[in-house]
Amino acid sequence: MNVHEYQGKEILRRYGVATPRGIPCFTVAEADAAARELGGKVWVVKAQIHAGGRGKGGGVKVAKSLDEVHRHAEAILGMTLVTHQTGPEGRLVKRLLVEEGADIRKELYVGMVVDRVSQRVTLIASSEGGMEIEEVAAHTPEKIHKVAIDPVAGLTDAEADAVARKIGVPEPSVAEARRFMQGLYRAFVECDASLAEINPLILTGDGRILALDAKLNFDSNALFRHPDIVAMRDLDEEDPAEVEASKYDLSYISLNGNIGCLVNGAGLAMATMDVIKLFGAEPANFLDVGGGATTEKVTEAFKLMLKNPAVKGILVNIFGGIMRCDTIAEGVIAAAKEVKLSVPLVVRMKGTNEDQGKKMLRESGLPIISADNMADAAQKIVAAVAGK
Ligand code: ADP
Ligand code: MG
Repeated sequence: MNVHEYQGKEILRRYGVATPRGIPCFTVAEADAAARELGGKVWVVKAQIHAGGRGKGGGVKVAKSLDEVHRHAEAILGMTLVTHQTGPEGRLVKRLLVEEGADIRKELYVGMVVDRVSQRVTLIASSEGGMEIEEVAAHTPEKIHKVAIDPVAGLTDAEADAVARKIGVPEPSVAEARRFMQGLYRAFVECDASLAEINPLILTGDGRILALDAKLNFDSNALFRHPDIVAMRDLDEEDPAEVEASKYDLSYISLNGNIGCLVNGAGLAMATMDVIKLFGAEPANFLDVGGGATTEKVTEAFKLMLKNPAVKGILVNIFGGIMRCDTIAEGVIAAAKEVKLSVPLVVRMKGTNEDQGKKMLRESGLPIISADNMADAAQKIVAAVAGK
């Protein structure tokens, strides 16, 4: 799960990670009031969307007067912000963060991720913070420093100090940088984050260390322990089909192709997508209905796939283990009738109650194409969609 920058900063402040003062706003009037409340002479008006690259896309603007804050807020709220992370369709801006303008002496980079190879939270730091970190990683990887953090010892003083020096933090600010990184690590672990990225982390004119940006992702399997973080979820930022799917406990990811797939088991779902591609077509989604799917769940899964106008055919691939083939057949038939299925449907099922399931499909009177194995199923749906 992702949160907005202002929410990420709110969480980080609880762990002693310093940020500029800022106020989230939903209207231009709120932005005006926020700037007055913050005071000072320089403000930054920042679009809040779940994507980076906002600065380059025109979603982060410096204002040197209250009037400018007003104009930037007007321009950014309601704009469709396109960044390298939003895709060409962009993202509608519905929230702003009005923040005090920081006196930037140097922009640095600090991130943390769970590194699956070392099986540790890994600190990544660079002297080259700001908006071009991808370029730095690609062209000057020696400027990226990494520390795999021991889960028992945590991020030690010595490790943090060494990293701070490597990324060019001047000696008088090293202790503050250390506290910053240790606070970030504590936040990461205690909140069950899967990613934390502070880009830029800045050194101010008077030698302070501040998080100017904050991107936090959380492990959804641990969200049950963090109701306060769940409360920060912004459904406007998520794919509506995926939000709908989560209500029925379906694992669904939208993709760009035209063949909808309904599969039980994540591994089988991945393999099914591979086979579709092997025969020259593209899947419209990943969908794992799970082990214990009911007729109702299968019906919802069908509805969800068919809401996508790009879907020109559906492939159902089921291994009947815990899930019985007759349950799936019942769901497929009910769903096909309820949604008045108008695209070709290929069903391949194997396992428990297979014969019964196949018989139900045959006798349903629906134009369902049956297949015996995965290759056969994929070829049949690809051909049906191509109109062959
Ligand atoms: P993004 O990464 O989405 O482009 P950032 O929050 O990193 O958004 O902002 C982009 C740039 O805007 C930063 O690299 C920094 O130079 C500037 N900036 C952001 N917030 C502030 C602030 N509070 N004061 C001064 N400059 C800022
Ligand atoms: Mg940034």
